[in-house]
Amino acid sequence: MVPLLTKWHNTCSGSGNETNSEKMATGKINVSADNIFPIIKKFLYSDQEIFLRELISNAVDATNKIKTLANLSEFKGELGELTIKVVLDKKKKQIRIIDRGIGMSKDDVQKYINDVAFSGAEEFVKQYEGKVDKGAMIGHFGLGFYSSFMVSNKVEIKTSSWKEPESGAHWSCDGSPEFKLVASKRKDRGTEIILNISEDSTDFLEEFKIRELLKKYARFMSVPIQFGEKELEVDISKEGEDPKLEKSMVPDIINEDEPAWTKSPSDLSDDDYNKFYKALYPTTFEDPLFHIHMNVDYPFDLTGILFFPRIKPNMELQKNKIQLYQSQVFVTNNVEGIVPDFLTLLHGVIDSKDIPLNVSRSYLQADGNVKKISGHISKKVSDKLEEMFKSNREDFESKWKDIQVIVEYGMVTEEKFYDRALKFNLFKSIIDDKHYTMNEYLEKISALQTDKDGTRVILYTSNRDAQHSYSEKAKAAGYDVILLESPIAGHSIQKHETSQEKIRFARVDSDLLDKLIPKGEDRTSILTDSEKEKLKESVETALDSKTYSVRMEALGSDDVPMLITIPEFMRRMKEMSATGGGGGFMGMNEFPETYDLVMNVNHPLAGKILKAKGAKKGEIINHAKDLALLQQNLLQGEALTSFINKAMDKL
Ligand code: ADP
Repeated sequence: MVPLLTKWHNTCSGSGNETNSEKMATGKINVSADNIFPIIKKFLYSDQEIFLRELISNAVDATNKIKTLANLSEFKGELGELTIKVVLDKKKKQIRIIDRGIGMSKDDVQKYINDVAFSGAEEFVKQYEGKVDKGAMIGHFGLGFYSSFMVSNKVEIKTSSWKEPESGAHWSCDGSPEFKLVASKRKDRGTEIILNISEDSTDFLEEFKIRELLKKYARFMSVPIQFGEKELEVDISKEGEDPKLEKSMVPDIINEDEPAWTKSPSDLSDDDYNKFYKALYPTTFEDPLFHIHMNVDYPFDLTGILFFPRIKPNMELQKNKIQLYQSQVFVTNNVEGIVPDFLTLLHGVIDSKDIPLNVSRSYLQADGNVKKISGHISKKVSDKLEEMFKSNREDFESKWKDIQVIVEYGMVTEEKFYDRALKFNLFKSIIDDKHYTMNEYLEKISALQTDKDGTRVILYTSNRDAQHSYSEKAKAAGYDVILLESPIAGHSIQKHETSQEKIRFARVDSDLLDKLIPKGEDRTSILTDSEKEKLKESVETALDSKTYSVRMEALGSDDVPMLITIPEFMRRMKEMSATGGGGGFMGMNEFPETYDLVMNVNHPLAGKILKAKGAKKGEIINHAKDLALLQQNLLQGEALTSFINKAMDKL
């Protein structure tokens, strides 16, 4: 089979286009399919807008190169004004990108544009020939300069090199496989790229559109960029129109060429960081909690500022707030799979020269450098939190409510982070209102809350008000109770239980206290076994057997007569499946349809039920059951109304 594309043939001579004043080269791409550009257009359609990013980053590179050459004294001329200009010329249907960088000689254009840059496009087309999946294709190839053909029907380069100002070049190509390259006398150092926008891409001739793209991709590029519209020739012959309306806008600088993350932390105040945060997220009212400024140059390059937002438990979590840059060029704000999942909850900017610019997401995710960077960021975050905890625990504790979800999320999803975070992950006791690390807490409770098998039982409440009476009981027994109200508490409990030796978590209302922390001492029952059996039967008959699983227990005579408990395991499974395996975030207000109902055989009511006759028996049982439901906040709707009505009647 004939290869879709063979080498670019340079037919420098004999083309008939050569004159004395200018040498011309023409070239031809041999393609068996129509040509390369329709294919590029088709495949990159969804990502069309990147042409501007590509062309401006080329201009930025060329400008930074001339600056470097000047610093090294290799370039001894005047640097002059280095601002890059983006000009929109609606009348000519052009976008022009003008830089005063190193420029290119005619030979450079031949080499970098005709040969090297084209090979990227060539490879793209070859892969296309082998079909492959489209998702992986898009953006995989560094099409760079050639991406301009996604929106143009003709592209021109006018350029002159810093080295050989006498040998400028004018290249043009109309999207067919032919290009023109002629020498030009242009002496002005730098490059002008002229895009003649094609009919189906006239969106890009709108000022607001270009402004939006510049804001997206070029906002923090390292050279000042000016955007302006070429003054339109005002058609005064049209009557009734205000000619001023057609006047061009005043060119303005659209970017901040030294954004906060490129500066040294010692040059920035908290106020500067907050201002930068506001600039990144203009719609966010609150200041961030704190920030982490990263500055690594070995073994890989990484700069950036991460902000910890204030996240309250149960708050909608927002991902996609971190922006990824490569040398101040915007790459993406979808860093999922690139940084550890829990860090996608942070805000801010990550910038690395080592992040490939023109690749697909799946490629980025598999990239070794990206993985190292992501591991490093995770470590940085835990270091910072540990340092904050150690240097000012009080302050750290005051912020804990807002940090907690992110830390828990990290601990659940990242093994290494779990180990590091144990040092600063806090449990808050609702009994003494103090915060404890895991080690501190286990020490605190181990004397009283170790069960007969030597397992330390951590009692918790997920809702102080709803489980209030159960917490009170635990408190009266001398136990401690912690508050675990985050949406992923179920997952983090599970993680602790599998990572730590001999610990177990139990929600205060998940069983009787004696059962939650069994000590091997059973209370004696006042009723005989046959009485218990009879009582159980009566209760089961009076209640709906599908909803209640009835159990007889010997509690204190001053304890409640009946108690509803929701088994820890069942409830946790439900909650975890509601929040998703990886820790999605949804409400946790689901209750199981079946309840454990404990009847206290030592309560005087037990005897009363046994003695009661006929309908009275059922009435007592149901009333006691309603009270038990009420205590668990489970008496709702019709059942609640009828309970209240009955209580009213008795007044
Ligand atoms: P890449 O930028 O990834 O190398 P491109 O296709 O965008 O690929 O550009 C190819 C080459 O053309 C660049 O590496 C550079 O040498 C040259 N080039 C492109 N634009 C400019 C410019 N504005 N000034 C100087 N050289 C440029």
